[in-house]
Amino acid sequence: MGNQHYVIIGGSVAAVNAAKAIRDHDELAEISIYGEEASFPYNRVKLSKGLFTDLHSDKILIKKEKWFANQRIHVYSGIKVTAIHAEDCTIETANGQTVAYDKLLLCTGAHNRKLVLDGASLRNVHNIRFRQDADSLKAELRQEDRICIIGGGIQGVETAWSFQQAGYAVTILEASHRLMPRQLDEKASAILTDRMTERGTQVYLGQGVQRITGTDHVEGVELEDGSVIPCEHVVYSIGIVPNTELARQIGLDIGHGILVNAQMETSSANIYAAGDAAEFQSKVDGLWESAMEQGKIAGANMAGASVSYQRTLPVTLSNCYESPLFSIGLVDEHVCDTSLINKNRASYTRMFIQNGSICGVIGFGDALASLPYKTAIIQGLKPDAPELTKILNDKEN
Ligand SMILES: Cc1cc2nc3c(=O)[nH]c(=O)nc-3n(C[C@H](O)[C@H](O)[C@H](O)COP(=O)(O)OP(=O)(O)OC[C@H]3O[C@@H](n4cnc5c(N)ncnc54)[C@H](O)[C@@H]3O)c2cc1C
Repeated sequence: MGNQHYVIIGGSVAAVNAAKAIRDHDELAEISIYGEEASFPYNRVKLSKGLFTDLHSDKILIKKEKWFANQRIHVYSGIKVTAIHAEDCTIETANGQTVAYDKLLLCTGAHNRKLVLDGASLRNVHNIRFRQDADSLKAELRQEDRICIIGGGIQGVETAWSFQQAGYAVTILEASHRLMPRQLDEKASAILTDRMTERGTQVYLGQGVQRITGTDHVEGVELEDGSVIPCEHVVYSIGIVPNTELARQIGLDIGHGILVNAQMETSSANIYAAGDAAEFQSKVDGLWESAMEQGKIAGANMAGASVSYQRTLPVTLSNCYESPLFSIGLVDEHVCDTSLINKNRASYTRMFIQNGSICGVIGFGDALASLPYKTAIIQGLKPDAPELTKILNDKEN
């Protein structure tokens, strides 16, 4: 048998980690990554956190060009894959190539859920998924412009902070009654809201958007109560939709994303999926760390190893508004048995408990402060475990 050709569709974090895992297991393999975006794989997370930094710097690349060359991984950037022919194991690209594969991996990621509202197609309504989106947004910005962010999830909050730091007037609108509803409870959201307001960002909670006003370009955002927030730009961030089109064309099993098992295999032999495009145990994670891990597992299995994906503990760390906070594990009060709140003058921490053990924690503090809690969750410690009591006492003093 000749050397295997592993083809990966989509050039981002899942793809890079898969390619590395393949190379680690198969020294002789041919590995090709086809990515629609024009550049080498980069750190997408920076598009909101570092919106006003140099997004074209080599510093945001996941790996430098030289690394791919050393690993003998071919990256074909700016090339869209338009079809898969599973029956003869080939793919077709937009520039007319037909490429044969032995094993295929779909790392096609996701796109942003579209805003469906009157005015959503006006000029200066933006959403950020690709570097190109960030570039065009920045090209349209004028000094003194006012920005309205629709969606108060982590990405919306981080984008708001980037604009605020860059000196723009920012308003953030969230339909539910708290910011970052997936990560924070009401109290933590209230603390964050106060800190955002103190630094000049206007926060509207529990307010749906009726429409975006303007004739050619954005002039304002009209809320459900009829009030209008004047602004020159709208940036929305209201969730993601996995890119499943290629998979659908060849009849793979699809839920929200491409269904995969713990080995990252799809319903078709020799075709795998990983990252934001994949759905594992009824869930599309939509997280950087998960895409990394799923990519590694897929790559290793494609190259003959036998490893299983175990969902990583969801960890959100945010440093926005000079208010470091963390949310780890299961923090849904409707699902957990109970919770314990530790509140002193300076901080707020809430531990969520299921079957007697800590299953999630929300707290204000940096990555370092979150570590003991992460360990406690992983080890299944009880809330009164001596290790944890000590930490809490130390924090209190
Ligand atoms: C602004 C922003 C901020 C974020 N912040 C965080 C954060 O703080 N923490 C966190 O955990 N996650 C964050 N995320 C999510 C995180 O970036 C994703 O979970 C991660 O990038 C998923 O990686 P992926 O490899 O699955 O796919 P993606 O990064 O979505 O990349 C998929 C790639 O495949 C390409 N592609 C798709 N179809 C084709 C095709 N047919 N042919 C060729 N190429 C194709 C796309 O062009 C794209 O380049 C953020 C995302 C965004 C947009």
